[in-house]
Amino acid sequence: MYSTITENISKAIRNIPDFPVKGIQFKDITTVIRQPVLFAQITDLIAAQYANKGITKVVAIESRGFITGGTLAYKLGAGFVPVRKPGKLPSSTYGVTYDLEYGQDSLEIHRDALDKDDIVLLHDDLLATGGTALAALGLIKRFPVQQVFAAFIIELEMLNGRQRLAQHCDVFSLVRF
Ligand code: AMP
Repeated sequence: MYSTITENISKAIRNIPDFPVKGIQFKDITTVIRQPVLFAQITDLIAAQYANKGITKVVAIESRGFITGGTLAYKLGAGFVPVRKPGKLPSSTYGVTYDLEYGQDSLEIHRDALDKDDIVLLHDDLLATGGTALAALGLIKRFPVQQVFAAFIIELEMLNGRQRLAQHCDVFSLVRF
C-alpha cells in the first residue's frame, strides 16, 4: 500500500531538464499537487511518520515548502512557522546567509516563532545538497527547542543532503531519485 502510493507520487512528478539552468533536472511537483488524491496522500504519509512524536510546530521553507507545510501542520495539529527570503517577514527576525553553487542566498525567521517547549518538523519540497535545509536548521538552532526532525517529499540521493543533515536531525523523505 505504502509503496504503491509512493510509486504513484513518484510517477506523477514531472522532470524538466535544464531548468532553471542547464544541467539541472528540475523536479516539478505541480503535476502531483493538482491531483486531489495524491496531494492528500503526500500529507497523510508524511504526517503518519510523526504521529507519536509530539510535533508542535512545522517550520517550512519558502516557497514550495509552504504548500505541504501548511497541510502537514493542520494534519499534525501543529502550528505553522514560515522561513522566508530576506525582507518578507514584518517583525524582528534572525537571518542566515548560505552558499549556493553560484553565489549566496539568505533566509529569515521571526524571533518569536519558536520556544523551549517546541518539537519541530522542518519541511521543504525537496532535499538536494542540503544547503537550504541546513541553513534553516541554523535558524531553528537559535531557539532552545526540544527536538528537530526534517521531512521532504523528494530526496535527490546523489547529492548527499541526507548525510549533511543527519548529524543534526532525523531525516525522512517520501520519494527518492
Ligand atoms: P539544496 O539546498 O541543494 O538541498 O536545494 C534544495 C532547495 O532547492 C529546495 O528548496 C528545492 O525546492 C530547490 N531545488 C534544488 N534542486 C532542485 C531540483 N532538482 N528540482 C526542484 N527543486 C530543486
